[in-house]
Amino acid sequence: MKVIVVGSGFGGLAAAALLAQNGAQVKVFEKNEMPGGRASVHSDKGYTFDMGPSWYLMPDIFEDFFSRFGKTPEDFFELKQLDPSYRIYFGEKGSVDIRKDIDENYRLFDSFEENGSQKLKAYLESAEEKYNLAINELLYKDYQSLGDMFDRRLLKEGRKLKILQDMESFVSKFFSSQEARRVVQYSIGFLGGAPGNTPAFYHMMSHIDITMGVFYPEGGMRKLADSIYRLAMEHGAEFAFNEPVEEVLFDDGKAVGVRTPSGVQEADLVIMNADYAHSELDLVPEDLRTYSQKYWDKRVLAPSAMVAYVGVNKKFDAFDHHTLFLDDDWEHGFDKLFNPKKADWPDNPSYYVNVPSRTDSTAAPEGCDTLFILIPLAPGIEDTPERREIFLEKILDDLAVKIGEDIRPYIETKRIFALDDFSDRYNALRGTSLGLAHTLRQTAVWRPAHRSKKAGNLYYTGAYTHPGIGVPMVIIASIVVAGMIEEEHGL
Ligand SMILES: Cc1cc2nc3c(=O)[nH]c(=O)nc-3n(C[C@H](O)[C@H](O)[C@H](O)COP(=O)(O)OP(=O)(O)OC[C@H]3O[C@@H](n4cnc5c(N)ncnc54)[C@H](O)[C@@H]3O)c2cc1C
Repeated sequence: MKVIVVGSGFGGLAAAALLAQNGAQVKVFEKNEMPGGRASVHSDKGYTFDMGPSWYLMPDIFEDFFSRFGKTPEDFFELKQLDPSYRIYFGEKGSVDIRKDIDENYRLFDSFEENGSQKLKAYLESAEEKYNLAINELLYKDYQSLGDMFDRRLLKEGRKLKILQDMESFVSKFFSSQEARRVVQYSIGFLGGAPGNTPAFYHMMSHIDITMGVFYPEGGMRKLADSIYRLAMEHGAEFAFNEPVEEVLFDDGKAVGVRTPSGVQEADLVIMNADYAHSELDLVPEDLRTYSQKYWDKRVLAPSAMVAYVGVNKKFDAFDHHTLFLDDDWEHGFDKLFNPKKADWPDNPSYYVNVPSRTDSTAAPEGCDTLFILIPLAPGIEDTPERREIFLEKILDDLAVKIGEDIRPYIETKRIFALDDFSDRYNALRGTSLGLAHTLRQTAVWRPAHRSKKAGNLYYTGAYTHPGIGVPMVIIASIVVAGMIEEEHGL
């Protein structure tokens, strides 16, 4: 069976590897020059930047994925657990470290508020319970109807799932201090949501980052993308880079190939990993689209971002490998990110700095640091080179106050990547960096479907589909889609 995969993000890579292993003749067409999609790489003057994902979370998902090929992640890269896991600055009030040793985190929470450690213990127990439920019952599954979502057993569990409560109100029942609330809520940003619009079910994120820990593949996240790329090729998958798909071809309502600048490429089925809205609106004829333009106009998009890739010829100890700078007024920040009427470049944003050179000597020249500075922005706002420069200056002013030193005199290389780049490089809808937010109405059966509802032999994987945003989730989406194809097409 001939399978064409459109896009070589983690979704496309994982689907290609799984299907090639099971005997399909797989060809991947990728618009850009390298595999990895959002996990592309930028290098300049000896500094190497992972352009997208930097947090290796949920190592169990990657172990499971590689085990399907009789491999382990360590067959491809060395995996280190970070300690501290990450650092958080609270406005100008200094920073705290979240540690690998859970007892240290309990002590930290005791310093935040009375009985903080007991509260954190109870919170993490609940988070672990939801995580196990998610892994065992909810994530590795395709949802085609409400019945799939609410089978009898899950309905029984329903109240425990906390899907109807939002994170903000759930967390405020556990913790009273601003610090504790922020430590357990910042990670909702990974899902492209705000505490006020994300179901409390996702407090399982704290089990992921606090209990399970934060890891780093030596050589960066690109090592993970490269590993799956190699795995796919070892099983016979072929890749064509700089080869954008311009159209999906159909015969009698069934996908039969794609058209690229090199011509017509035939297939028995097509898997779209490119951004879902682009795939449907730009590549599939209107009568065979599952979702209309109106549908996409109404979706709650996860934020976009401005990312500055900055190489500095000095080491700044104020940064850990992962450092978050949370603004005192972060509630207003969410408003500018998620309320389309107020969407704008923020005044006092929270932001994140990744410094892989803290852990990895190959990331920067000796004595230097590779800084990845990410500021979430609302999708769809105006993006101009002038705006970006002014905004970065503002962030660097703020950073100088918070870490007590200006990084500007040490900058050797700088590249800014923002909304228009997400649209140009990845065909992202309104420049979103992540896809669809994880609101209740965009969860499971309410996320865009894995299988086209209008066209035959047309499948979708990637962050827009269930289970959603993030590298582990996208890998799971492809495991689900590959399983569906194997079952439906008898691979
Ligand atoms: C800045 C940033 C930081 C992040 N941080 C983390 C993190 O720390 N940890 C984590 O787990 N996740 C993180 N994420 C999220 C994670 O990177 C994504 O959810 C995931 O990589 C998405 O994978 P995907 O396969 O769905 O899509 P993509 O990676 O976007 O892959 C889609 C591919 O399709 C290609 N394509 C588009 N149109 C066409 C076309 N017409 N023809 C051919 N190819 C096409 C694109 O070029 C791209 O290569 C981050 C994302 C960003 C942007």
